[in-house]
Amino acid sequence: MDKVTCIVVGAGPAGSACAYALARKGIETVLLERGRVPGEKNVSSFVLYTSELKRLIPEFRKDLPFERTVVRTDQVQLEPNDAKALTSYNYQWVDDPLAFTAYRRKFDAWFARKAVDEGVQLISGMKVNNLIKDGDQVVGVRVGDEELYADVVVGADGFHSVVGEKSGLITTWKPERCFLAVKEVLDLPSDVINERFQVADGIGCEQGIYCYHMNDLDVFSATLYTNVDSVSLAVFARLDELQKKNIQLHEQLEFFKQHPYVDNLIKGAKLREYQAHLLPDGGRVKPENLYADGVLLCGEAGGITATVTGMGIPTCLLSGMMAAETIGDAVKQKDFSKRSLKNYLKYLDSTALLAMVHKSRKESDYYASAARLEGPREMEAAADIYNQYWETDVMYISKHSFSLLVELYLRIGQYHLPGLLRWPLTALVKLSRLPAKLVEKIKKRLRKRYYEWKGQPAGR
Ligand SMILES: Cc1cc2nc3c(=O)[nH]c(=O)nc-3n(C[C@H](O)[C@H](O)[C@H](O)COP(=O)(O)OP(=O)(O)OC[C@H]3O[C@@H](n4cnc5c(N)ncnc54)[C@H](O)[C@@H]3O)c2cc1C
Repeated sequence: MDKVTCIVVGAGPAGSACAYALARKGIETVLLERGRVPGEKNVSSFVLYTSELKRLIPEFRKDLPFERTVVRTDQVQLEPNDAKALTSYNYQWVDDPLAFTAYRRKFDAWFARKAVDEGVQLISGMKVNNLIKDGDQVVGVRVGDEELYADVVVGADGFHSVVGEKSGLITTWKPERCFLAVKEVLDLPSDVINERFQVADGIGCEQGIYCYHMNDLDVFSATLYTNVDSVSLAVFARLDELQKKNIQLHEQLEFFKQHPYVDNLIKGAKLREYQAHLLPDGGRVKPENLYADGVLLCGEAGGITATVTGMGIPTCLLSGMMAAETIGDAVKQKDFSKRSLKNYLKYLDSTALLAMVHKSRKESDYYASAARLEGPREMEAAADIYNQYWETDVMYISKHSFSLLVELYLRIGQYHLPGLLRWPLTALVKLSRLPAKLVEKIKKRLRKRYYEWKGQPAGR
């Protein structure tokens, strides 16, 4: 093979989406994957929210290899000695599913096969180790001793992106823009899963677990969800925090598994898989570094993801589709220069992706900033406030307690504003703040009235 129009590096969700969309446009595309089969190298089971996939392959449900349809979603707040869970069942998702649990091994292979069906040439077992350049223009890739040429190369090669590094688009990565995840897939009989998670055959549960005051980590969360006959458990923490505090995440996982809430759900389960993986927080790459002459980055390679929402795959998939739109225009204009590929930002902006990247960069900046160290611990502050609401009643308290909103702003809100707005507004809010004793008095009175209103003794 001498030259094709486009080479996509990496057959993960971003790469297969991009290749699929390019092939639908009739653009000659080669998809290169280092694994012997797509999915082989990727972190295993996951929850797939499907709205973006539906946009690309409307009939995807015909043969999508999924485990369970997610109908139950739980938000759990975990502290060392208690757990509070907000459970919701969305029964319309039984017939019109929004999310499925699935295995990456099966899903990635299925997705790449869909791209092949559209005319993409998939070459597996090929690790790209360098780019070929003509001046500044990327004109192909090197795989061992072999050279493949293309008008444009798409880097969809995940966190450790060779395309990003060799093109000079990614020069460094900072720990504060990354999460570390440790994940286990645990075998558990189907009927035990149904009983413990209160679901029926084929129906699944997804839990987002937020941990406070747990082993000294400011930011520590977990996900737990059900496959047919296994559950997936993953814990996440910021890499910079783990480094600074010299904390081992796999030890945190063991500690986490012993929490009575978690233990009750997984006891007796047998370890099937164990994996660790880095995740870029959104905004790892500046938007102007997502493209250069003859090259684009999408998915995790470009940090186009929303780690905090747990929606990595839909955003990666959408960025692959937007890269394909950009390349479609470049093919029409026969122009693969940086100037032409800049359209990528326009396409990302037409979705919510660019806004998401900007927001995530700001959040990461905040985490890396002195403000975070000087300020109160954000998660702890959120937990306190959450607890206050929990103890009373959201509808009732929100009518009466302006002071809680002020507290929320002072503890969290201000850090998300640009400096120019933050300082005057914070000064104003502080001036209007009631003395702490008075706030306490008001809260006590509110609580008393609340219990009277509910007809319960104000015992707490
Ligand atoms: C523990 C954990 C749990 C997660 N759970 C969820 C979840 O439930 N739902 C969700 O939506 N997201 C989840 N995510 C996030 C999600 O996995 C990522 O956002 C997503 O996989 C990124 O897709 P991608 O295509 O950009 O990169 P990847 O999935 O990393 O794919 C990159 C592909 O490129 C290939 N590759 C890499 N380098 C080369 C090379 N040099 N040459 C050739 N091929 C190469 C790799 O083998 C791989 O196939 C989770 C992540 C982790 C770590």
